[in-house]
Amino acid sequence: REILEEEDLDKLKDRPPVITIMGHVDHGKTTLLDHIRKTKVAASEAGGITQGIGAYKVQVPVDGKTLPCVFLDTPGHEAFGAMRARGASVTDICIIVVAADDGIRPQTNEAIAHAKAAGVPIIIAINKIDKDGANPDRVMQELSSIGLMPEDWGGDIPMVQISALQGQNVDDLLETVMLVAELQELKANPDRSAKGTVIEAGMDKSKGPFATFIVQNGSLRRGDIVVCGGAFGKVRALFDDGGKRVDVATPSIPVQVIGLNNVPVAGDVFEVVESLDTAREKAESRVMSLRDERISAKAG
Ligand code: GDP
Repeated sequence: REILEEEDLDKLKDRPPVITIMGHVDHGKTTLLDHIRKTKVAASEAGGITQGIGAYKVQVPVDGKTLPCVFLDTPGHEAFGAMRARGASVTDICIIVVAADDGIRPQTNEAIAHAKAAGVPIIIAINKIDKDGANPDRVMQELSSIGLMPEDWGGDIPMVQISALQGQNVDDLLETVMLVAELQELKANPDRSAKGTVIEAGMDKSKGPFATFIVQNGSLRRGDIVVCGGAFGKVRALFDDGGKRVDVATPSIPVQVIGLNNVPVAGDVFEVVESLDTAREKAESRVMSLRDERISAKAG
């Protein structure tokens, strides 16, 4: 991945995959995410998971071990597109949900196009197989006719038939995710200053600007000075996906960050820098170049 640099190469460690769920409206994205969150988030953390930070870590049992993976909670297609436009896709794997009683619809095609353009492997979840009108075979036919050939038919696209509502085969889906992740050999260097992407941001009445970062390389620590888009500041506090204060976030792990001077935009890249002066300079030049872009876009 382009985020890795020469200096990282001998210090790489495995990192968890980051997964986005996309698909046509009402095909079951939210139901699937909810099911995964309810059943797979470690019990000790589950209590805190009320205030969502836009992503969460789940533990998946594979071969007698449990391995972490991270699900992005929010990004609909717009967020995914915006992140891609900034050249900063955080997603390693895309699950595309297709309802077995409805088949390929416009947003299914859109999701496939996004994943393909970003070069992200696709796993198809054929959902709602519990329904009377479900016809998973027809969905597989439709998908092969647009070039997504199911593994079961000799192609290279894993397709898992599930009922997100009843939880049926969701474990198989998660195992498939981990298999695809393993093939990607996802690595990062945790022993360097952090870089990554903003996946969500906003303004809290008492805490001020907040942002959820996904660390893509390095480790982010409380006290680090960060610049992201036109915002910068010293990290005053980090919160994990359970709302608990933490001191450090390692690669792929989402954290909410408090201490920025402004609200960044989802898709902005963040990096840790040496000093507040450097951070301010970088943020200001970023604001200027954004303004120039806008002016020339208007003129052109
Ligand atoms: P989203 O718009 O893609 O997030 O879809 P939702 O998760 O909100 O689901 C839309 C509707 O389909 C809701 O009424 C869900 O209860 C229902 N639904 C989702 N998954 C299943 C399923 O596996 N089986 C059945 N029967 N209904 C489902």
